[in-house]
Amino acid sequence: MTLPSIPLAGVIGDPIAHSKSPTLHGHWLRELGLPGHYIPLEVKAGDLGDVLTSMPKMGFVGCNVTIPHKERVMQFVDQITDRATLIGAVNTLIFREDGTILGDNTDGYGFIENLRQNAPDWDPKVGPAVVLGAGGAARAVVASLLDAGVPEILLTNRTRVRSDKLREDFGARVKVVEWVQAGNIIEEAHTLVNTTSLGMAGKAELRVPLDGLRAETLVTDLVYTPMRTPLLEVASAKGCQTVDGLGMLLHQAVPGFERWFGQRPTVNLTARRAVLA
Ligand code: NAP
Repeated sequence: MTLPSIPLAGVIGDPIAHSKSPTLHGHWLRELGLPGHYIPLEVKAGDLGDVLTSMPKMGFVGCNVTIPHKERVMQFVDQITDRATLIGAVNTLIFREDGTILGDNTDGYGFIENLRQNAPDWDPKVGPAVVLGAGGAARAVVASLLDAGVPEILLTNRTRVRSDKLREDFGARVKVVEWVQAGNIIEEAHTLVNTTSLGMAGKAELRVPLDGLRAETLVTDLVYTPMRTPLLEVASAKGCQTVDGLGMLLHQAVPGFERWFGQRPTVNLTARRAVLA
């Protein structure tokens, strides 16, 4: 197999029209003057295997994978990175020259890089992290926080069995707290992360009491519509350093772009503006 002269990449999901990834990758391709295209592809679950077999033959060098295929796609992949195995989901595929497919998960990388870029003095090792939520994104956040050296994660989720599963998968540094008790652990947080969809435009509010939030706590929200979520607004008013979720979306895209198109793109204000336009 030879590399295509105009490499193609894309994002497969269902639905896909809302995805910001084509805008972001298109911006980077233009900025770096590289040949190539990044395309949104609406793929039904039943077609996933056929689509992945065809894509390399059509000039695709890889793709991102989004809802609802992030877990199911793992059965069509030849090799899965350790971090994707730990997270239990794949969001980036590399179609290799030997015909095999590598599956990776860059969400945790994107989460940490966003904090490192926007809160360079933040040291995860200083104290516990409180993580709200135990869905797919929480798994990536927990994996990356543990990897970054947080001493303890206090995890709370509405559905207890999901948080218990994370405790089981990620070990004793994760402690599960009842959702109704969430307000009581906020003051212990050196880092506070919302991984639920609460606070997102059109979704319910995040009702966790924030009275105990200390000004020393770094607060970040995975929700980025709106960019300044009610959680970030309350945290800023209390003097906390805050980091919005858009940066995670931008940073998680970097490893895929670099593998597919051969140059490392930059996450900066221009990239943010391109995605928001
Ligand atoms: P998911 O797997 O569906 O998990 C949703 C989470 O939100 C679960 O913890 C769920 O709790 C909780 N939740 C939903 N409705 C709730 C309610 N009414 N009360 C209490 N908890 C509720 O989704 P996900 O993939 O983890 O994504 C979560 C959020 O992160 C979404 O808003 C997504 O857009 C965002 N995200 C952002 C980025 C980024 O790059 N910034 C990346 C990935 C995800 P239960 O388990 O009890 O249902």
